[in-house]
Amino acid sequence: MIIVMTITAGEPEILQTVAGIEAAGLKAVVMPGGERVAVGITSAIPPDLREPLANHLGSLPGVDHVTHVTRSYKLASREFHAAPTCLDMQGVRIGGPQFQVIAGPCSVESYEQMSHAARAAKAAGARILRGGAFKPRTSPYAFQGLQEEGLRIIQAVGRENGLLTISEVMQTERMEKIARYVDILQIGARNMQNYPLLIEAGRCGHPVFLKRGPSATIEEFLLAAEYILYHNNPNVVLCERGIHPMDRSYCRNTLDLSAVPVLKEASHLPVFVDPSHGTGVARYVPAMSLAAAAAGADGLMIEMHPTPRTALSDGPQSLTPEQFDALMQRLRPMLTLLGKEL
Ligand code: PEP
Ligand code: MN
Repeated sequence: MIIVMTITAGEPEILQTVAGIEAAGLKAVVMPGGERVAVGITSAIPPDLREPLANHLGSLPGVDHVTHVTRSYKLASREFHAAPTCLDMQGVRIGGPQFQVIAGPCSVESYEQMSHAARAAKAAGARILRGGAFKPRTSPYAFQGLQEEGLRIIQAVGRENGLLTISEVMQTERMEKIARYVDILQIGARNMQNYPLLIEAGRCGHPVFLKRGPSATIEEFLLAAEYILYHNNPNVVLCERGIHPMDRSYCRNTLDLSAVPVLKEASHLPVFVDPSHGTGVARYVPAMSLAAAAAGADGLMIEMHPTPRTALSDGPQSLTPEQFDALMQRLRPMLTLLGKEL
């Protein structure tokens, strides 16, 4: 059971609600939300106590309503928050009628490369520029990213082109610093269950783009988001990016598109799809992008590189600027049919 407080409820009302729960011999946990606090009951409630307790708690001052949340994740659930969450970042809205495309190379390689990618992204209609500076590479011998220099480049190029920016964070100690350079922090698939990182992302308060781990169930994914929400950051975007495949000979991962309607039903958080990592093959990216939009995604993350053949990471799955532009042109009429805009 969750007791959702009114927006104006203060500490005395919250404490009174907690006391009401404890008086019934149950355990209460205060869960800070974006604009309002909720109080959850973490111990099992005897069936005959459910209704009288809900009525009693619902009548306390400062209580907006009481809901029965049957899921393990609470703050991420639709039961807690029925309306879809919409993030507004300098006028760019994620989770509303405007479909957002995040585009750019896997890694920041140079100012020229980023500048070229940013101009192409902007011209085609994207509003958010991606580029990894601290790269989680499977091999220690692979390019690890330009690190802080990469952040300086993506920040400068983003500003020059009027694009929001996103880059990955892998370590708690670096989070504050990275948040000073980019508008959105990406937590990559490999770190989806790095709990200290999730907690720090909660405390940091910066918008977080959380990618699904390759072996994570939907429940584990939503519980990872729950960590960030529970630690006081309501600005979370979910991203499906493919799960471990049964057969790697055709695609790098298996893009789980059914995760889109499943997540949209279970949670109020915006849902993105990354068909680049989802397939690992540039020529399959357009089809899966259109399919993701049709499935109800709120946006896409697409790797695009001025010259994919020379890319220092993920070249085979990166679109050229021309291919990216062609994809955006195919997306536009489809989104109109879906009642969305690009
Ligand atoms: C990336 O976005 O470049 C990346 C490493 O993605 P993922 O965490 O989904 O593998
Ligand atoms: Mn990549």
